[in-house]
Amino acid sequence: MAIAEYQALTPQTLPQRLGGVAVLRDRLGDAAGWQVREVGDGNLNLVFIVQSPLGGVVVKQALPYVRLVGESWPLPLRRSFFEYNALIRHQARDPGSVPEVYHFDEAQALVVMEYLGQHVILRQSLMAGRRHEGLGQMLGRFCARTLFRGSDLSMKAAARKQDLALFAANIELCDITESLVFTDPYFDAALNRYTPQLAPVVARLRADVDLKIAAQHLKMAFANNAETLLHGDLHTGSVMVSDSEARVIDPEFATYGPIGFDVGMLISNFLMAYLAQPGHGEAPGARAGYQDWILAEVETLWQTFEAEFTHLWRTERSGMLYPATLFEDQGHGYGAEQARLERLAAIWRDALGFCGIEMHRRILGLAHIAEFDRIGDDATRARAEAQALMLGRTLALARGQITGIGQVTALTRATG
Ligand code: ADP
Ligand code: MG
Ligand code: MG
Ligand code: MG
Repeated sequence: MAIAEYQALTPQTLPQRLGGVAVLRDRLGDAAGWQVREVGDGNLNLVFIVQSPLGGVVVKQALPYVRLVGESWPLPLRRSFFEYNALIRHQARDPGSVPEVYHFDEAQALVVMEYLGQHVILRQSLMAGRRHEGLGQMLGRFCARTLFRGSDLSMKAAARKQDLALFAANIELCDITESLVFTDPYFDAALNRYTPQLAPVVARLRADVDLKIAAQHLKMAFANNAETLLHGDLHTGSVMVSDSEARVIDPEFATYGPIGFDVGMLISNFLMAYLAQPGHGEAPGARAGYQDWILAEVETLWQTFEAEFTHLWRTERSGMLYPATLFEDQGHGYGAEQARLERLAAIWRDALGFCGIEMHRRILGLAHIAEFDRIGDDATRARAEAQALMLGRTLALARGQITGIGQVTALTRATG
């Protein structure tokens, strides 16, 4: 088949255009029997569910612009290439944690993958007050495995450098993060929006030089500390859950960056879900037990991350960093354990910083979260958002002093 020029799919054209792809024919049978729906609810791309009596698949296709904004904001199609490459690495590093990839078409910027028909987006679930067994554990393991195994703690130096070069070309998506997360919330940027009642809090944050500097220190870490392959957009809208499992989707922002980034962003989204509960509860206080569950999952997530990272450090440290031979004189692995604790402390500090900053951009920047946006009552929404803004400031500025996840959940309880 000749390489056709890129063209965005529609539910009408999809069967005819992809009907000849072997893996689709194998899974779904003849294209005449396919049913297609476009279900993309994200900010950037087209997502089609394609079903037949034989089964279903998802086709995700990049658009040459930002879907949320329109054609006035072009965005390269090659983000699909990075998404594909990240998905297959995640699958190798934490098998079963992502949808299986069936097919990739670079020219059409599309990935065909497993249809998660029993799953819903975690963010929706958190608003609905639903619990998911093993969630924190799964996510903590995912972060530890993908972040450890993508780093110089695990990979051979040459392979990692080659991979770093590949993902370094994901420039435009990094640029979105660099602007929208680390800079725009702290000044009057054109794309910002926020609940008007927040104006006094916003003025306080923008007058806070320490906070702006902290955000720039964190931006420098994000842009310069190429420690591992990140998911890059790991929020609760990038996790799909069923009664029994969770999967991580949408790694198109994948880039090399600091280990604390993904885990910090993810925890931030749980803490915001906690603070937003009064806007979603059936009656005042109705979600108190559910709020406890969210914080318990956050604690489990971090504890699992630490435990799995520790396990991998002790059993899979095959990269150039902290080689075991270097510490043989110390006996009993003592030196390597001290190094591990110092490394984890640095990851923790970074994670808290990214966690705090994420709260600001989700309330003041372009890309908001449904937990807050869907609170109809302005006063209730503004109260929850103001709490998150102040919590985010504390986490970002006190990241060197906060010693454990229990302190973070206690601070969150005291805030909300
Ligand atoms: P975007 O990059 O535009 O944010 P996502 O990858 O997050 O796109 O997908 C958008 C939506 O499509 C998700 O919120 C989810 O509802 C649906 N979706 C994406 N991938 C799958 C999948 N593998 N199975 C089922 N639904 C999916
Ligand atoms: Mg998404
Ligand atoms: Mg995306
Ligand atoms: Mg508890």
